[in-house]
Amino acid sequence: MTTIRNNLQSVHARIADACAGAQRQVNEVTLLAVSKTFGPEAVREAYDAGQAAFGENYIQEAVEKIALLRDLPLQWHCIGPIQTNKTRLVAAHFDWAHTVDRLKIAQRLSQQRPQGMAPLQICIQVNIDGGLTKAGVAPAQALDLAQEVVQLPGITLRGLMTIPEPAADFEAQEAVHLKAKALFDQLRQAGLAVDTLSMGMTSDLEAAISAGATIVRVGTAIFGNRLAR
Ligand SMILES: *Cc1c(COP(=O)(O)O)cnc(C)c1O
Repeated sequence: MTTIRNNLQSVHARIADACAGAQRQVNEVTLLAVSKTFGPEAVREAYDAGQAAFGENYIQEAVEKIALLRDLPLQWHCIGPIQTNKTRLVAAHFDWAHTVDRLKIAQRLSQQRPQGMAPLQICIQVNIDGGLTKAGVAPAQALDLAQEVVQLPGITLRGLMTIPEPAADFEAQEAVHLKAKALFDQLRQAGLAVDTLSMGMTSDLEAAISAGATIVRVGTAIFGNRLAR
């Protein structure tokens, strides 16, 4: 068995354990394999082991990789920062964008989504813990932004995405993820038909699933350590 196949099996086992612990069904949680910095051959290997959804951070790198993998039925998720000068590439090449953090970006993705493609699936990135990276909308602004985004054609609002600062232990990780879950519930109570909470990575996926994550984004545990970019 290849390493990537083995690793995928281990991650699926972690997800299954976390779901059992949280009394959730394992099919409520989707594994997004984060392939940033790894080449198309690593993605092919993961695909051969049953993985179809991949997350990429660096848009130019992703577009090249996507082109080299056209022969496979893969789903591509943009999980990196989206500058205004990159929205056209995201709209043309991705299935999902998790990192929409202002209306301007959503409007451009809406306008630039090519005719004939399915709507781009959108998550609003929330700066859930006020982390130093500052990416994401403030929690208090998330509902307003969601109510604007949901009206735009060419894109479909699916939910929220967070990247909390690393926390020391399970309880601390879960406490932050529960804040995201509360915000997600608030959007639903306001009548928005959102179904996606994208949170949890290699080091905190159990806490994220416990708190209600529906997509976990895992890189290192599948592909190994990344080289500095
Ligand atoms: C790199 C990255 C991941 C994956 O992180 P790992 O710790 O390698 O699992 C998930 N989400 C985002 C936004 C990332 O940039």
